[in-house]
Amino acid sequence: MSFNSENIIEEYIVKETDTLVDIASKLDLPILELRLINGLYNNDIYVGQRLKVYPKKTYIVKPNDSLFSIGKKFGVAEDKLKHINNIDEGKLYEGKRLVISDPIVKYTVKQHDDIEKIAQTFKILVEELIEYNGINDYQIFTGQELYIKMPSTVNNPSFFHVLVNKSFTLPQYYVPEKLTVPNVSFPFEYFHEKKLMREDGARALECLFKKANEDGIDLYALSGYRSYSRQKFIFESGVKEEGFEITNRLSAKPGNSEHQTGLAMDVTCPQIKYSLDQSFENTKEGHWIKENAHKFGFILRYLKGKEHITGYQYEPWHIRYVGKETAISIKNLGLTFEEYLGIE
Ligand SMILES: [Zn+2]
Repeated sequence: MSFNSENIIEEYIVKETDTLVDIASKLDLPILELRLINGLYNNDIYVGQRLKVYPKKTYIVKPNDSLFSIGKKFGVAEDKLKHINNIDEGKLYEGKRLVISDPIVKYTVKQHDDIEKIAQTFKILVEELIEYNGINDYQIFTGQELYIKMPSTVNNPSFFHVLVNKSFTLPQYYVPEKLTVPNVSFPFEYFHEKKLMREDGARALECLFKKANEDGIDLYALSGYRSYSRQKFIFESGVKEEGFEITNRLSAKPGNSEHQTGLAMDVTCPQIKYSLDQSFENTKEGHWIKENAHKFGFILRYLKGKEHITGYQYEPWHIRYVGKETAISIKNLGLTFEEYLGIE
């Protein structure tokens, strides 16, 4: 198991007097879970050992928040928030820490179960099941307890500020309304779904390209909307070629791509041969995007040095439409979208 596996993005380094029991209680995790995540067969640990820790997505209640407003913000159903936090509306108070993402589900293997079947039931990948539970050679046994991280499916996918990342998933059948081809330059002529964007994003992108053009910036749009099924194909091809870990770091699982919102666009320029490469940052087009995108309502979604928050490598080419006012605040605060929304 390696450090970059999905969702296990934090670690705890064992100190001199630590016991596994202490650590589990400190981290508020069941000891069995801690052992499973780290592939430990008993409670033995050693000083300096790096333990993987499952991060909890939480949100601190602010004045005037309601379960409804918080649910809307994160695309989580009000009922689900209530349920996973074990609360009644009346008990919501300022400063309370709410868990936003779903809890981990424990599943006991039944006779005739196999890994593929379980993965299918929970709509997760076999690789995830294996990684998370430290399974060898696809071997599971009746009575075995498996931990399953259920993806949080957003219930308001068309919400303008919807957060889509490795923890928050768009529904499989979500297709944005009013997809349209923005009137901007593409490095290819033919029609392809990746030319599409949501109406509001498309109009804003046209303004951005127009100004760039006036400033002598040679910008091209490469990839916008991506359907669930195309993302699925891309991810599965990646896993076949590069393996799960590398693919997961560079690309999104189906439902976890912001491109499915129709509000994202990857941009490039001739100097880097229309590729999506970090060297875009050093082109005059990359500079211009970094300095001007917010004025048109776009944010750079995957910032340098914020990989541990966004879950993705630095992508100077990926812009997301959030509206002018929000984009300007985010840019001025130097935050990721996750931080801006208050996910901790
Ligand atoms: Zn992108």
